[in-house]
Formats: sequence, C-alpha cells, structure tokens
Amino acid sequence: MKITAVVPHVVVQRLDQPFGMSQWLWDVRASCLVEILTDEGVIGWGECFGPAEANRALIESVYAPLLVGRDAGEQVALWEAMYNRSREWGRKGISITAISGVEIALWDIAGKAAGLPVHRLLGGSAPESVSGYASAFYYAGPWDGDLEGEAAHLLAAGYTAFKMKVGGRPVDEDVRRVRRVRSALGADVRLAVDANRGFTAAEAIRFGRAVAGEDLWFFEEPVLPEDLDAYTQVRAALDVPIAGGESEFTRWGFRDFLARGPVDILQPDATACGGIRETLLIAGMASAHGIPTMPHVWGSAITVAAGLHLMTALPTAVPSMARERPHVELDQAPNLIRDELSDLACGPVMTVPDGPGLGIEIDRSVIERHRP
Ligand code: CA
Repeated sequence: MKITAVVPHVVVQRLDQPFGMSQWLWDVRASCLVEILTDEGVIGWGECFGPAEANRALIESVYAPLLVGRDAGEQVALWEAMYNRSREWGRKGISITAISGVEIALWDIAGKAAGLPVHRLLGGSAPESVSGYASAFYYAGPWDGDLEGEAAHLLAAGYTAFKMKVGGRPVDEDVRRVRRVRSALGADVRLAVDANRGFTAAEAIRFGRAVAGEDLWFFEEPVLPEDLDAYTQVRAALDVPIAGGESEFTRWGFRDFLARGPVDILQPDATACGGIRETLLIAGMASAHGIPTMPHVWGSAITVAAGLHLMTALPTAVPSMARERPHVELDQAPNLIRDELSDLACGPVMTVPDGPGLGIEIDRSVIERHRP
C-alpha cells in the first residue's frame, strides 16, 4: 500500500476566556492534524504536539516528499528516513513533533489495513474501562479562581482523579490554592499538581513541604527540564512522586533524562516524543530503570485515542503501575477540537476504541469549520 499524499491540516479554536498555567495564558487552541492517503483508499490520521503552523510547514516542506510513493507499512524505515533528514538541525522540538503526527497516522493506516484496532497491533491488553483524570483548576479560565465551584462541577461529572496548576503565583498563594482544592474535593480522590516548569528548585521544595499533608498523587514538571540537577534536588527532598517528560524527545533524549534519575513517573507524549512506537521504546527504557510511564495527553480526539491504545501496551514492570495504568489526562478547558472532531467519548470513564486503526471517525466538517 503506497502513500499518495501527506496532508497536514491546521485547526484553530478561539477561546472566549483565556486559561493558563504557570508560563502563559492560552487565548487560542491550535493543532496540526495529519492525514495520510494511500493508493488503496485507506486514510490515516495523526496529530502533532506544539505550534500548529510550524508543524504544518515542516511536514509539507521536509517530510511529505520523503514519504510519497513509499510503502505505508514500513513504519520503522519511514521514521528513520524522517529523523535522518532532520537530525542535523533537529533531534528535539518541532522536528520530532512533526514526525510524531505522521507516525500516529501510519498506525491508523496499519490498523485499518489489517482490520484491527491499534491496541491489538501493539499486543496490548485493553481493560474494560480507562479512567480519565481531570486536568483542571487553571489560572484564569472559565472558572477564574472559583476553585470550590469547579471542584463541585467536576465531582458531579464523576471524576475521581484531578490535576491542578501551580508554579505561576507566589509559593504561599499556590499552597493556599492546593489546600482549598483538596478541601473541596475531599480526601478520597487523587489530586496531582503541575508546575509546568515554573518553580526554582528552592521554591519547589518549599512548596512541596508546605503541601506534604495534602496527600498529592504526583508533582509534575516542578522545574526546568534542562536543569536535571534541580530535578534531582527536588526529588531527593520531597516524598511526593515527581513526574515529568512532556518536554523531552526521542529515545536519546530520554536516555539522558533517565540516566540522571530525575522522576518517579515518566510522562512522554506520543504526539511529541516521536510517536507511538517511540513512546513504547522510551517506556521500555524507563521500565528497566524501575520507573513507570504515564503518557502525557494534550490535544484533539486523535491524541486521546492514540493515548488510549498506547496505554494498553505499556510495560508494567513496576507492580504499582498495574494499578495506576488506566489514567488518561483530559483537559477541562473548552476543547471543541477534541469533543466535536470524532465520536470518541471523553470523560471520567472511557473505553479503548475497538474499531480498525485508531477506531475513531473523523468529522471533516469540524476541520473545515476550524480552519485558521
Ligand atoms: Ca503538564
């Protein structure tokens, strides 16, 4: 089955109420979706993390010409051809996010060609259900500081696991926010925090000690990903599990990250780190270090579906991860690109799609409606 075209589609959603984390506010959601067409009429869909127009430009100008005319089933060779073409100036960032979107679309094609869901191709064990955790309690956003109101809303929606933003206010203010959210949610649910690289090591440690009584699930991206000394200082000083990895790329980047031992939970993103297979290679390496992988998920229905399939095939060498495995991040700010793009139902209880490929039907009218 030959690839006849690789078509990146940029989709954009303008937000009435910007929402944010420690680094910036989003007033627009944009994503680059990847459509790959073949000479047998099978079409695959993928998605790239990061700046949509930059991903589109890179795919159109650099990667698509390498792929057209090649056998869509040669996933490894195609990945290596793309990586090798950009290695000289790439290796991290947009060069890899663009490859990731293409790679996911090739899995969709492989599954459709075989008449099997991607999780079967991966040798995964699809659980009865997968828990979605609510990524919420942003700075600004629709709830704009009404932490108790947002907590009540999410609990009523059935969520039992949550993540909130920290690292964007003075430490004492973030400590008060965490205590308010924990108090509003109650003691029986999981609550994680995500600093999005917003603290210094000293601040992260002060914050972590101050909220030590809040029984946090994990503490995500406490410090800058370039500063692995800071990561290891924070991890050594605190009891809460440290998570990170969404800002790292490929097996080579994660090799160096893991060698320094900065996290308790690894969070590669399949739409960023190189794709589904690359995430499994990274998760295998993490497993050999005794570190469980809980992939980062941020994007449209394509990203969530890829995350669900991937979740079934992660190594569970760490016993506790057999309990942790079925959790997929679900961003709670308005996300039409996710909620309208396909028939995939996103919520506190989800099922891994069982149709061929990624197992979702893409509604092209949504892409048309959300063009830039
Ligand atoms: Ca994060």
